Amino acid sequence: MKIILCFVIIASVAKTNAEYKNYLGYKLYKAVPTSEDHVNLLLKIQNSGIGEFWTDYYRVGDDVRIMVSPKNEESFLSQLKESKLEAKSIFEDLQQIIDTQNPPANVRNVRSTESFHSMTWDRYYDLEAINTWLDELAAAYPKVVTTVVMGTSVENREIKGIKIDYHPEQTDKKIGFLEGTLHAREWISPATITWIVKEFLTSTDSDVRAFAENLEWHVFPVVNPDGYVYTFTDHRLWRKNRSQANFTTCATNVNDDMSNGVDLNRNFDFVWMTVGASNDPCSNTFAGPSAASEPETRAIQQYMTNLSNHGEIIYYLSFHSYTQLFIVPYSHITTNQVLTANNYANMYEIAIRSAEKVSQRYGTHYRVGISAEVLYPMSGSSFDWVKNHTDAKVSFLIELRDLGEFGFLLPASQIIPNNLEVMDGLIEMDKTTKKLGYYHSRSGSSTILQSVIVVLLGLFVSIVL
Ligand SMILES: [Zn+2]
Repeated sequence: MKIILCFVIIASVAKTNAEYKNYLGYKLYKAVPTSEDHVNLLLKIQNSGIGEFWTDYYRVGDDVRIMVSPKNEESFLSQLKESKLEAKSIFEDLQQIIDTQNPPANVRNVRSTESFHSMTWDRYYDLEAINTWLDELAAAYPKVVTTVVMGTSVENREIKGIKIDYHPEQTDKKIGFLEGTLHAREWISPATITWIVKEFLTSTDSDVRAFAENLEWHVFPVVNPDGYVYTFTDHRLWRKNRSQANFTTCATNVNDDMSNGVDLNRNFDFVWMTVGASNDPCSNTFAGPSAASEPETRAIQQYMTNLSNHGEIIYYLSFHSYTQLFIVPYSHITTNQVLTANNYANMYEIAIRSAEKVSQRYGTHYRVGISAEVLYPMSGSSFDWVKNHTDAKVSFLIELRDLGEFGFLLPASQIIPNNLEVMDGLIEMDKTTKKLGYYHSRSGSSTILQSVIVVLLGLFVSIVL
């Protein structure tokens, strides 16, 4: 019996190890192409499967991060040497970085005082834990928090979020939307959004209270639930959703799994497949077979269409990582076309002020601009679609920490510093948005009411006298 039990345990451990993609001995290289020849060489390396790239798009002068297996290292380095492209190894063993990124629950930092219901911010949480936490909030704040399911994913998981509404009686709705984890491997995204929710519900700071209470908030920490689950069970660096509808054999992937997903941030129905997107299912930026082909995309589009009929959308914030950017719409245009977006100049000013504020706490530098300037041109992204379709007053894609030192594998110890500085930036964003006249705070209207009462009282006193 003992032998059988032992066999079962060994078998199950072996199964887990076999399923989870292992990066043992993989190195992460950094390279900066300085010529078109270098760019072409990188494309060749990517297409041949010798390296897996963290960067979706590269050009002369841009930093590129490339993961290389022990098996391919020699060939990788000799090709680089031949073309005189220098590369520096940043991590000697990627699996070790993956293993240490997220401390297990039993070695949680007990000194951490930052917890709220079952959530802390000293580690990353899986989908089930995040969804359970949302339920806890709805139970604890029944007058303010309601859980919402916006739709289901390819694998039939709920896309779950919450509505936070301090003024359900209000008919003139101003709406804010927080979108997390459109890309599965960007774990800092839901860890940031859950913190913002905690602040909305608990902070006593008057600016945070105004930010939380002046708007009706719709918050979805994980809009790509299948991909997110997959990063915990199978492949830490998975980016796309888990659609298997476009399966084809990909030379770049030993498990031949690369084509089983669509890049949701290329799938939205706005200038779809025009630039910075791929029609190759083996690519990490595969835009899907048609615009809005994916149920996750359609759920967001439908939800935002409904919201725009229900009130005025002030904020749409899409949280990604990494590169430290505030990206302003639109992503398919060039620098001399920036005025294509309504109120571009104001959005830019709001983003600049937010970025300045972010940097004040720890000196973390965020850049600001349209995607073509600060990242690369792209099309079919959610925040661009929302800007175009609903005219959300402030629609940003925010690329969180870091600049590539750890990239997607940002250590859990950086969650709280990241969250604190981002919250500073968002409060500044809200102050600037209000200052520019995009909405008046409810406390502002009560001040007007108070002034009217004072004037009337003054009149009454003068008449009596
Ligand atoms: Zn992303």
